[in-house]
Amino acid sequence: ETIGATLARTVEQYGDRIALIDAAAGRQWTYTEFLRDVRALAAGLLRLGVAPGDRVGLWAPNRFEWVLAQYATAEIGAILVNVNPAYRQNELEYALTQSGTGLVLAAERFKDSGYATMLEEARPKCPDLRDVVLFESPEWAELTARPSEEELARVAEVAASLSPDDAVNIQYTSGTTGFPKGATLSHRNIGNNGYLVGELLGYTADDRICIPVPFYHCFGMVMGNLAATSHGAAMVIPGPAFDPRAALDAVEKYRCTSLYGVPTMFIAELALLDSAPDGYRPDLSSLRTGIMAGSPCPEHVMRQVVDRMHMSEVSICYGMTETSPVSTQTRVDDPLELRVGTVGRVGPHLEIKIIDPTTGETLGRNETGELCTRGYSVMKGYWNDPEKTAEAIDADGWMHTGDLAEMDDAGYVRITGRIKDMVIRGGENIYPREIEEFLYTHPDILDAQVIGVPDEKYGEELMAWVRLRDHADDLTAEDVRAFAEGKIARHKIPRYVHVVKEFPMTVTGKVRKVAMREEAIHLIE
Ligand code: ATP
Ligand code: MG
Repeated sequence: ETIGATLARTVEQYGDRIALIDAAAGRQWTYTEFLRDVRALAAGLLRLGVAPGDRVGLWAPNRFEWVLAQYATAEIGAILVNVNPAYRQNELEYALTQSGTGLVLAAERFKDSGYATMLEEARPKCPDLRDVVLFESPEWAELTARPSEEELARVAEVAASLSPDDAVNIQYTSGTTGFPKGATLSHRNIGNNGYLVGELLGYTADDRICIPVPFYHCFGMVMGNLAATSHGAAMVIPGPAFDPRAALDAVEKYRCTSLYGVPTMFIAELALLDSAPDGYRPDLSSLRTGIMAGSPCPEHVMRQVVDRMHMSEVSICYGMTETSPVSTQTRVDDPLELRVGTVGRVGPHLEIKIIDPTTGETLGRNETGELCTRGYSVMKGYWNDPEKTAEAIDADGWMHTGDLAEMDDAGYVRITGRIKDMVIRGGENIYPREIEEFLYTHPDILDAQVIGVPDEKYGEELMAWVRLRDHADDLTAEDVRAFAEGKIARHKIPRYVHVVKEFPMTVTGKVRKVAMREEAIHLIE
């Protein structure tokens, strides 16, 4: 069914329950009130001339208007284009132009970024961009004003004409491996993913989910919002940007049962519990579960999240924008070891397989290869890019994730790296992740990233980029070689070592190895 149909059903069953709390705005909505405001905005969008299939950009940090816009666009079949709050001028213009966005709903500003000014500057370069409505403007008040009966009837008519396979959302990938691609997702894709993620967490209308992760990413918008609204649970927004104290305060104040984050957010929350000078002791006893996703979580962090934050049922998820996003998830009763070393088992109604990336043959258990997934979660395609779509989704419907993984006999999956990162040196496959983990054991190395660089003799050679700890001032390739000798195979010891202060990063906080490879060419000349 469509996202609107699911919401309407939830409202019928749980109309009096809390749907949304915005802690910073000090406001809350029951499901009945939430649907009323969603439909008012939907009517306003129709009034503005938005039609099904039109792209509507949304550029704002986490705040209640974001959630209203998410559901209002879905209600009338518009396609929501999530614009990353960290985008700057070029990235903004790329996303708006590539998606052909006609209307942008936006916050006037966020932190040091004047969104209003940047949008004005983008106008001449984005031919499709007709309207910008800022949340702080009188136009927004008009857009969300109480609609007439006829307007509401029109919203209902449009909503009834939609199909679950219609596109509802374009999300740009993080751009870790290249230019961001616009994954086009349908109601069926993300509605089901949100619902099923919530099912595995045991969500009911009694749950309250604290969501400090950004809405512009599937983590917030699907695993958070859509999981909540398909179960009658509450969405709790602790604040516009992540702040450990705001997150824990919201958990205490609203008695949240679930808390989301990437591992570094949980690390910051635990550090706050340890070091708060004023004897800060938030009551976290309402917590039961939550999701940690995006990157691997160290074991001691997981243990403390379970013990000190009461999250005995915390779950690990793996996925990507193109797959709505979740493909594998740990179950609430999985033993702790499996919630540390693995990303769980395949989600309901999905298939996964591990293939040899060169031959395409399906591999056996415990063998490393490319993870492929098939089922309801696979995107419709990359927006306006049939070529890239055909490279990613094969004729049998398998999405080739580009991630390297292995599956054990019980079906638990381990992510071991990315194919695009794989280095082939003299015919040997080398997984940079393995070398990076080895380099972390060096006392002077704070952080390490390994890439392949062209080499006449071996085809490729390994280059390590390292960030050093404060006490160290330099590290040479000879130092690394001496350290690695006898510990790892010769062919895995990096030939080049490059010391840096920072790695090139994407706006979602991932290291951009493409940029490293480009620069590396000049370093070895
Ligand atoms: P791009 O596709 O533009 O290069 P990206 O793949 O980083 O960027 P996302 O869709 O945001 O963009 O991230 C998905 C990727 O994140 C996955 O393909 C995987 O490599 C990584 N990932 C996600 N969850 C986990 C996890 N639990 N453990 C390890 N890696 C993960
Ligand atoms: Mg990707």
